[in-house]
Amino acid sequence: MNNIEINGKIELQHEYFANNRPSVETRIKALKLLYKNIKLMAPKICEALKLDLNKSDTEAYMSEIGIVLDEISYMLKHIKQYAHIQPESTPLSNFPAKSYTMPCAYGVVLIISPWNYPFMLAIEPLVDAISAGNTAIIKPSEFSPNTSAVIQELISKTFSKEYVDVVIGGVEECTYLLDQDFDYIFFTGSTRVGKIVMQKAAEHFTPVTLEMGGKSPCIVDDSADIKLTAKRIVFGKFLNAGQTCVAPDYLYCSEKIKDKLLYELGRQIVLQYSVDALGNENYPRIINEKQYNRLVNLLDKNSILFGGKFNDKTLKIEPTILDANFDSEIMQNEIFGPLLPILTFKTIDEAIKNVNKHNKPLALYIFSNDKKTQEKVLNNCDFGGGCINDTIMHIANHNLPFGGIKQSGIGAYHGKHGFDTFTHYKSIVHKYNWLDLPMRYQPFTKLKEKLIKMFLK
Ligand code: NAD
Repeated sequence: MNNIEINGKIELQHEYFANNRPSVETRIKALKLLYKNIKLMAPKICEALKLDLNKSDTEAYMSEIGIVLDEISYMLKHIKQYAHIQPESTPLSNFPAKSYTMPCAYGVVLIISPWNYPFMLAIEPLVDAISAGNTAIIKPSEFSPNTSAVIQELISKTFSKEYVDVVIGGVEECTYLLDQDFDYIFFTGSTRVGKIVMQKAAEHFTPVTLEMGGKSPCIVDDSADIKLTAKRIVFGKFLNAGQTCVAPDYLYCSEKIKDKLLYELGRQIVLQYSVDALGNENYPRIINEKQYNRLVNLLDKNSILFGGKFNDKTLKIEPTILDANFDSEIMQNEIFGPLLPILTFKTIDEAIKNVNKHNKPLALYIFSNDKKTQEKVLNNCDFGGGCINDTIMHIANHNLPFGGIKQSGIGAYHGKHGFDTFTHYKSIVHKYNWLDLPMRYQPFTKLKEKLIKMFLK
């Protein structure tokens, strides 16, 4: 898509927003139509996700389509309440008046999404953006082209171009988009590109949400229920073949339970994916050759404890566990694939200290049945969000904000937090005219000073 076309799309939306800010009724109508069209197009969306990532229909519904539908249902239930002015109390110094905050849309929003959950990560922020009254331009990832095409079809079927539109393209188009003046930018992707987005946004003082990644630790202490722990780690790590921003990146366990945990992890991999995960038609593949080669190069033969097979033709890598320490190559960057390094600690204090030496992760998981250990980890490590005795499931709760901290993210969304992210709250004091207290006006007197000191203390 050329720059003139991109400019045309942005101008159209600015003009539309300037003249027709979407009313709550318009938003509700749009959300209902979006819901209906997603349901109608669900088989097509599944097909695209199968082509791009070999996702099974069940996984596609559970981790992409269902999540978006659920977010729409949530917004339809709450939008009227959220879009209403929120009364606030007024201090005596402002008497007589009423005060309130007024939720207002930012305007034209740019949504940039990645390839790993290519449908959900483009459409869920859109749901929040339009619920809050914005218009939006979506730039889906160039690496999941089948899903991008379905997104384009869905959006053109549901919205007029001045309300929601799509720009198909890669780095060039995205760079051009980022040079334009948007009212808000919502980015999901790598920390490297997040930095570029933030720098570009600064040129226009555009507020941003950055949903990024990192190396999310999964800590397991001696007191954990090892069988259940292994089952839940295998679920969270190998969903979408590990290409999940909140997947446990590495396993950090007490040295006393390493062997037992390893045995159970292997058992769970076989139970969940069969002995031949590469032949399992419901096991996703790696998105492209570049990512596949990067991951295969991390497979140090000497350190493989379980799995390790891969297939150049299907771009699949089986669930694999490797021995590692913090200096291993696999521990230098976010893995983003089905490789799980296992590291050990002697004490929980040592574990906390080592986790804190690294960038602040998007997620952290602590498996322990000891309340003190759970609290110690939560109180002393910085991370976006996480679970005690589970993986990933904190993102499946509308009431919890989803986002990172520092290198793993700025801002959050989901449910009310999503509405707030795309909303500017105007603060209003509505002053009444029947009385006008004199203290604040010149000329000042001793009495006025005394009164001011009485009110402001
Ligand atoms: P990416 O940063 O490479 O790409 C994301 C988007 O940015 C794409 O649309 C791409 O076209 C665009 N882009 C890429 N390079 C650019 C550049 N130089 N200038 C401008 N735009 C550019 O990320 P990815 O590889 O698609 O996704 C993987 C990363 O995303 C991982 O780090 C993962 O942890 C993170 N992620 C985070 C979340 C979250 O919700 N926090 C969810 C999924 C993925």
